[in-house]
Amino acid sequence: MADLKFEVTRNPNPKPDAEREEIIKAPVFGANLTDHQVVVVWEKDKGWHSAQVIPYGPILMDPSAAVLHYGQEIFEGIKAYRHQDGSIWTFRPEANAKRLQKSAHRMALPELPTEIFIESLRQLIAVDGAWVPEPVDEKTLYIRPFEIAAENFLGVRAAHRAEFRVIASPVGPYFTGGLKPVSIWIALDSARAGKHGTGEAKTGGNYAASLLAQNEGYENGCSQVMFLDAETSTYIEELGGMNLFFVYKDGHVATPSLDGTILRGITRDSVVQLIKDRGLKIEERKITLDEVKSGITAGEIVEVFACGTAAVITPIGEFKSREGTIGFADAKPGELTSSLRAELTGIQYGTVADRHGWMHKL
Ligand code: PMP
Repeated sequence: MADLKFEVTRNPNPKPDAEREEIIKAPVFGANLTDHQVVVVWEKDKGWHSAQVIPYGPILMDPSAAVLHYGQEIFEGIKAYRHQDGSIWTFRPEANAKRLQKSAHRMALPELPTEIFIESLRQLIAVDGAWVPEPVDEKTLYIRPFEIAAENFLGVRAAHRAEFRVIASPVGPYFTGGLKPVSIWIALDSARAGKHGTGEAKTGGNYAASLLAQNEGYENGCSQVMFLDAETSTYIEELGGMNLFFVYKDGHVATPSLDGTILRGITRDSVVQLIKDRGLKIEERKITLDEVKSGITAGEIVEVFACGTAAVITPIGEFKSREGTIGFADAKPGELTSSLRAELTGIQYGTVADRHGWMHKL
């Protein structure tokens, strides 16, 4: 199974070079997709089969397809980086493959073997490599692998047919406006994930659950929402699409522990490692909203940043809620935030030594 052969379309339909070049000069996050997609089918009695690279286009779907009714859907987000010598690399793809498997398990979907996951990225880059922008202004190709329940059947049970697909979109920075600290809305009336729920899975429903609060955030001038634990609204969990780190005056750093309700961010894991490499103390523990409020006000917490594949490392300038605003007077990103960001992006773009063997050539 792991040596599944990919069949590549004989009728590719690429955009003209000039049109592609125009798009990747100033890509808007997620707005334009590349020329091809990967599809691999799973059936309960056959396992994974029919791996194909086909032109990008709509999915012809029966209205009774399970994903449309019961939300059996999982996805990943991973980037392809062009290095100065023109080669194309990705970051820790095994970790994304493993997380997709964990998400699949939780959502009763079939687990895609790691080798097929990585080969599917390689296959897409083999045909759409020209879509990976030059390594300037934080441009990359954002790759979106996803899996859906594709059985046409209205009964409520795990689907007997699923599809894994990979699509990709050239992107610039997630937050426009440079490395400016962002404002975060605290969701006081809306939770994203509960105990024994699906918070740790990267599944569409978690994001659907976050959008009402995100709208509220936008209305209040914030670009992301911070969620608290569903049971007591006491502990900080994560943002709608990023994990959180708090830097203390004495030099130590804290991040919410992985208790099953937050996503195991691959950037989070990498940042924890980079902090350890610097000999700094990193605590993975429960962090209360009260600790953060009083810590910022008293000057104990000196930097806060969010991290994830899309936005890398982003400084947070203030937290807002209907109860008020707490923030840093300084509108500049903090020192540790900036230097971790430079180190991580340097590893990804091949200008800083990859000590941990995180980069994978596609
Ligand atoms: N939390 C959530 C809810 C996310 O969607 C993401 C983005 N995948 C992250 C955290 C960060 O994860 P990663 O660093 O693997 O992109």
